Amino acid sequence: MQTLVVTQDENRIDRQTIMQAGEIIRNGGLVAFPTETVYGLGGDGLNPDSSRKIYAAKGRPSDNPLIIHIYRMEDLQVLVKEIPDNAKKLAEAFWPGPLTMILPKADLVPKETTGGLDTVAVRMPSHKVALAFIEAAGGFVAAPSANLSGKPSPTLAKYVVEDMDGRIDMIIDGGDIAIGLESTIVDLTGDVPMILRPGYITLDMLKDVLGEVKCDPTLLDGDCKERPKAPGMRYRHYAPKGDMLIVDGEAEAVVREINRCVADSRKRGFKTGVIATGENADKYEADVVKVVGGRNEETAIAASLYRILREFDDEEVDAIYSESFATDGIGQAIMNRLLKAAGHKYKQIREEE
Ligand code: AMP
Ligand code: MG
Repeated sequence: MQTLVVTQDENRIDRQTIMQAGEIIRNGGLVAFPTETVYGLGGDGLNPDSSRKIYAAKGRPSDNPLIIHIYRMEDLQVLVKEIPDNAKKLAEAFWPGPLTMILPKADLVPKETTGGLDTVAVRMPSHKVALAFIEAAGGFVAAPSANLSGKPSPTLAKYVVEDMDGRIDMIIDGGDIAIGLESTIVDLTGDVPMILRPGYITLDMLKDVLGEVKCDPTLLDGDCKERPKAPGMRYRHYAPKGDMLIVDGEAEAVVREINRCVADSRKRGFKTGVIATGENADKYEADVVKVVGGRNEETAIAASLYRILREFDDEEVDAIYSESFATDGIGQAIMNRLLKAAGHKYKQIREEE
């Protein structure tokens, strides 16, 4: 399949290109598009064949449901059985934006899109190109992240091209992505709202609007015996090709331990990489050192994390060591993704060591 790559500027949207992209979706084809979180791989969310094509293009297991993207609030009622008050409050506070809600699905939504579930995930993104595209596409765009299954989500169009060229009809290059981590997913089908995937909209922000909110206990705990409630969180994910270890502890001790691991890996002939905060970057002796942001710059860390994981692949790094980050606020999402990327390989350095 020939994949057409077009560019779109959020501030100067070209109607003709967007209409062409929308027509591809309405005819059952696939288009990758920018959102404020990561690039999405879109198909018609109400067309079961489109959803099957999305799974095939990504190599994604078909029991891992897709998020349906809408462009206006009144379309939510088309997708769900009813809209609870909590959903209204969250939409009011965070839509358009990086928040996905899980609600009981309407009969119209095909099970192919929801991975066989009776619930549906819905989001209204804020990226202007995404909104124009969803409208042109008929209003209901099912879209997972536009990467091959298992790889880090793409935050640059060149990584969408790398993974999807020849597999989909069109790629809309909208430039760099602002947030860089997938949307927060909150399940509103239980008694208490529950975060199934942390993101830019944090637990505290949700509590401010809803009062009580809980987190899926598996989010940061690799040893947790429960299964993650979002099917997608059960799979190996966001993973670079190299082996990865996260080292946590007091700053000096972390630098020492990572340098010890680096030396050991190099002795064994491995190309080594480090994910470092700006404060520590020049202290590492690895082949490749990537600065992910300043220690307290969590939005910068979120925005550069997936790009860095991809760059380690480009540079064929075999052994990756990462500093650990705070787990409050957006840090919860950052550590959740980092732990998954590392397959939960995590080492805590104690003071006395
Ligand atoms: P992605 O689009 O790649 O960000 O993946 C979508 C995420 O949403 C996956 O982790 C899915 O498991 C999750 N998801 C989508 N629909 C549902 C649902 N109905 N219930 C629980 N999780 C869902
Ligand atoms: Mg994904």
